[in-house]
This record gives sequence, structure tokens and C-alpha cells, in this order.
Amino acid sequence: MKPTLGIPRRTEVIEKFKSEGGMIAAVLPIHYSRGLLRAFDILPVEVWGPPRVDVSYGGAHLQPYVCSIVHNALSFLKTGGLDVVDFIIVPHACDSLQGLGSILLDFVKPKQHVFPLYLPRGRRKEDVDFLANELRSLYDSLAKITGKRPSNEDVLASIQREEEADSLLAKLHENRRHLELSNLEFYRLIRSREFLPAEDFVELASRALESTFEREANSIPVLMSGIVPEPMNVLEILEEMGGIVVADDMACCGRRLYGVGKSDDPFVRAAERIVFAPPDPTRGSPIEERLKHLVSKARNTGARGVIFYHVKFCEPELFDLPDLRKGLKEEGLPSVAIEVDINDELPHQTITRIGAFLEVIE
Ligand code: SF4
Repeated sequence: MKPTLGIPRRTEVIEKFKSEGGMIAAVLPIHYSRGLLRAFDILPVEVWGPPRVDVSYGGAHLQPYVCSIVHNALSFLKTGGLDVVDFIIVPHACDSLQGLGSILLDFVKPKQHVFPLYLPRGRRKEDVDFLANELRSLYDSLAKITGKRPSNEDVLASIQREEEADSLLAKLHENRRHLELSNLEFYRLIRSREFLPAEDFVELASRALESTFEREANSIPVLMSGIVPEPMNVLEILEEMGGIVVADDMACCGRRLYGVGKSDDPFVRAAERIVFAPPDPTRGSPIEERLKHLVSKARNTGARGVIFYHVKFCEPELFDLPDLRKGLKEEGLPSVAIEVDINDELPHQTITRIGAFLEVIE
């Protein structure tokens, strides 16, 4: 029987967590340690835009060529959308987010505590050490503000709880073809990781994994790469045209399939998980590594082509795109590049291009 997902609304999750004495951190994209925050009883709730807000509020501080994720996040904050949160965390994924961090700290100065988080751009031991120190410094700041000092064991246990949730997230991705979920339902489920406590996500994911079925072979399997599948009706449109997303390389999803850390030092372990995550242009992964990753994902899942679905003005994505597409073509994998502004409806022209691409790879 098809599982009922019953994903609670983000606002309900926040209210419940706060009513039980917890605090909330709004976290901008892309990488951070959920486990560290939860050790302080702080629930991370991610802010990927959100779509469809009045961007004029953010526009007063940002250049027009900054992406809609950052424009929307700032506008959302300025119109009270983040009033319920206690902290704002801004990982330095790209120049636009780095700029947002500075604007918040130096100009907007919201009532919440704002923490930038610097991320290393490599996979050396020095990169792990650097990030571990960043996380230690975040620990110290949170300890000062909250008056709590969770022990190393507590932080480690909190990270391990996230590891369990992430291993189920990976299973959902692996079993994608056999899950009785539409494209949209699947993405709603995996993206609930952006705001659900790990233990609640584990319950939902386990339920979804209980019922699998043999999908008819007539859907056209694709790999989706990019930042975030917004507007989310792109997933329905894709399905109506016969496409199924069987592999994911999106910043909000597949690029955050964090593995299990090795170290018993909680800060090093949390850093290892991020540093050794799947390749990501915002963490400085070389194009060859990304190409190899995409080709192997496509081969393992049977994806016949790649849809690059990127946010307008997203430099980290745009820099890699020409070489990646060329490399994929040489490997016999066609691709199409779709650019979106997360505030806009999908234009007809875009829908037609997706349809034409599916016909080519059918
Ligand atoms: S969409 Fe691209 S430019 Fe915008 S915040 Fe994300 S990584 Fe940065």
C-alpha cells in the first residue's frame, strides 16, 4: 500500500520544538553541522529563499545580479519571516552568501545572533582541521549565549543521530526507483530533512522505505543537478511529460549525502562529514571530480541524461557548466541547462525545452 507521508508543516515543527523549550536557528545554504546545533537543543531550519516573497526589501541592500536565493532570504528576514528564530547562520558557500553575512552583521543587524561559517575548499587534513576549528568557535559562541556546555560525548551522540538520519536519506536516494512516490512526493520527503528533527525524519523515511514496488519501465530516467528544485512544480511537470528523477546532484539534496565520520572528536567528525561529502562547486571540488561523480551516478541509476537546473546568477554553478556538459557529452550523456529565478513561475519556453530534452533521450 502506498505510504501516507504526513510531513508536518515547517511552522508546526518550529512551534512544537519551541514549546518544548528548544531554540531555532535559520540556516542559509549549504553546509553546516546539524548535530552541533542539536547538542544545544537548537533546531536548524534551512532557508532556501524561500520562493515568492516581495524581493524589494532585500533589493535595497543587494545588487540586481545577486541570485534570488540571497535576495529572497534577506527580504524574508526584513519582512519578519525569521522573527521566530533565535540565531541566523550564514555558511560562506559563495560570494553572494558571504556578502549577505557581511550585510547582516554590519548593516541590517537583525535582533537574532548572526554567525558566519567559513568552509574550506579542499579535502586535505588541513581542511578538516580548519573546519573543526570553525565548529569549535561556533560551539564557544553558542555556549556563551545559551549558558549550556554540552560535553564532547553529548555532541558526539547528537552527530551520530544525524548520521543515522543521513544513512536513511541515502537509502531513499538509492531506492528511488522503487519507492511508491511521485517526483514531487519524493522531493517533499527528502527536503523535510531541511527542517525536521533527525528523529522525526528517521520515522518518516523508515515508513517510506517499508513499501517498495516495481515501477513500470516506461518512465524516462534523468539525473537532476543544480541548487534547489524550485519552483517545485517543475517536478510535477517533468513527471507529466514522462520523466522520473532517479539521481540527484542538487545542493539541497544529493550534494549533502554526508557519510559517517571517523573521528571520536565530535568537531573533527562533523568536519569530516562535510569535507568528504559528494563533490560540490561551492566547496571547490575540481570539475573532473564532479564529472566522474555525475557519470557514475548516471551509470548506476540508468539516468539517460542530465538536467542542470540552476538559479540565475549562481556563479559557482555557471563556472563549471560548459566543461561539465562537454565532458558528459563525450561520455554519451546528453544534458540541458535550465536557468530559473525562484520567484517566477516556470515559463512555457522552459517547459517546452524540458519536453524536447525528454524526447531526445527517450
Ligand atoms: S544559488 Fe548559487 S549564488 Fe545563490 S546562494 Fe546558492 S550557491 Fe550562492
